[in-house]
Amino acid sequence: MLMTTRASSSARRPLVSLTRWQWRSLIRELGRRGQGTREAGAFLLAPGPDSRRVAHVEYFDDLDPMCLRGNIEIEGQAFSKLWDICETKQLAVIADVHTHPGAAVHQSSIDKDSPMVAQIGHVALIVPHFATRRVRPRHVGVHRYCGGGEWDSWFGRDAVRRLSVRRWT
Ligand SMILES: [Zn+2]
Repeated sequence: MLMTTRASSSARRPLVSLTRWQWRSLIRELGRRGQGTREAGAFLLAPGPDSRRVAHVEYFDDLDPMCLRGNIEIEGQAFSKLWDICETKQLAVIADVHTHPGAAVHQSSIDKDSPMVAQIGHVALIVPHFATRRVRPRHVGVHRYCGGGEWDSWFGRDAVRRLSVRRWT
């Protein structure tokens, strides 16, 4: 009984947690940067690899202005900038987020084969409709890298448990 309780409570711990203000700002920016016609995305940084609370959002096109080409192709140099930001701000990349055109938030084969950060436990969020509509966590695809090209994926209610949008700080 105790084991069951512990297992279920750790399963409920979110993988990524943002304030409502951060979430709205993220969706608005992704929509603005994609202009309703192309994918946009960002890295989500937290105070440490074990923290789930997003402290900083770094947009792909701020790191590499040419990366939004319909799909997203980020130059290697952008990652050096990202690691510099992590070092300067003492933060770690815990997740990335990118948009897809329709309601489907499953990973494409490219998404699966090329994780932005190929670290076990890294989370990739996929937001529908190029983030041009109001997006709630239940609309988002939550994908966690398991290594070896394998991912865990959650949708709907299961995604809500793993992506927390908090009312307050
Ligand atoms: Zn994708």
